[in-house]
Amino acid sequence: MSNIRYKKNNLFVENISVKKLASQIVTPFYLYSEGNIVENYKSFLNNFKRSNPLICFSVKANSNIQILKILKKLGSGADVVSGGELLKAIKSGIKPSKIVFSGVGKTEDEIRLAIKKNILLINVESENEAILINKISGQLKKRTSIGVRLNPDINAPTHKKISTGKAEDKFGLSKTNLISFCLKMNKFDNLRLDAISVHIGSQILNENPFKKTLKVLDEIIKKTKIKFKFVDLGGGFGITYKKNDQKLNLKNYSKLVEKFKKKYNCNIIFEPGRAIIGNTALLVAKVQYLKKGSNKTFAILNAGMNDFMRTALYDAVHNILPVIKNSKKNNGPLEFVGPICETTCKFIKYKKYQKINQSDHVAIADVGAYGASLSSNYNTKPLIAEIIINKSKKRIIRKKQNLKNLINQ
Ligand SMILES: *Cc1c(COP(=O)(O)O)cnc(C)c1O
Repeated sequence: MSNIRYKKNNLFVENISVKKLASQIVTPFYLYSEGNIVENYKSFLNNFKRSNPLICFSVKANSNIQILKILKKLGSGADVVSGGELLKAIKSGIKPSKIVFSGVGKTEDEIRLAIKKNILLINVESENEAILINKISGQLKKRTSIGVRLNPDINAPTHKKISTGKAEDKFGLSKTNLISFCLKMNKFDNLRLDAISVHIGSQILNENPFKKTLKVLDEIIKKTKIKFKFVDLGGGFGITYKKNDQKLNLKNYSKLVEKFKKKYNCNIIFEPGRAIIGNTALLVAKVQYLKKGSNKTFAILNAGMNDFMRTALYDAVHNILPVIKNSKKNNGPLEFVGPICETTCKFIKYKKYQKINQSDHVAIADVGAYGASLSSNYNTKPLIAEIIINKSKKRIIRKKQNLKNLINQ
């Protein structure tokens, strides 16, 4: 059961009332439940326990170092996509031997850093990248473990802006290019091809695309005749944001993964982000103004797309919860918007909503993944605070950014 829920009509995160916190801390702020993080991690691992996978949390979903420390304690590794994320993961205590590095545009500096730190795998996304890694490895007199990322050309039903596994997407190597790459491996004296990886997109709510991907991998591995030490199956596991979203059921997929692992005698890696952190946080905001529009009321929040960009960027739907429920009705439709000077700085429109007043607090739901990590200083607004609750204890895991530090450049 989620630790973010109503007690009577009062929204709680674990044992703390959101209303009470909002009266103590300047809004807006991110508010996490540590219990939800732990439960999500354990339930993900439990689902795949028979494959005994290495879980590499996708740091771009949430890169707060205190959250990385919680995941590290649970045994998590990290999937990173930049030198900064790599350093943060290491600083959180995650061992380099549990870190994989993905991304199509790794720079020389980032590659050098990854090699020097002896991470588990650099997941290569092009032949030219492999050439550069080979060269730098030579300079450093190291042999570097790489994975090669497959673009399986699979259409996962998700928002087009978060699909990564179709031929037209920039990620990975096509089947034919991957096979010819494998045949050329003897050219790369300083590389060891230890893994094949895939990641077909994000917020996938149906297990079929995952199953299809496994089939493509099966076909490719047979063709290359390579014994891969690791098969990295990526992330992308969706969560239910909307009431009608189907719930992703991974039971059958999990059985297929187990069979696959036995067949190839390989180690399985997963890179979940959203599934671990998505439903663990609220963004608590205040209704700054109510404003009458021609056929709806605008509730203008003090949180905007700078704080939480998913709605503006991917048309994501996130519910907004009243911090205190009441049984009165709002007069007509209500649209929650933010203060940023962009038309897309809006969150959600309800045909019916409870009575809302100026200065009321509300909470944008399920903002743990791609929330704080995607926030920015747009409109010269400071980054907001992040707070985590464990039972009755609260911890500030990021202070609100000081405006003074923002206005000097
Ligand atoms: C973003 C990303 C992930 C995590 O995706 P989720 O949908 O959050 O699980 C995993 N692997 C790679 C390579 C990624 O780029």
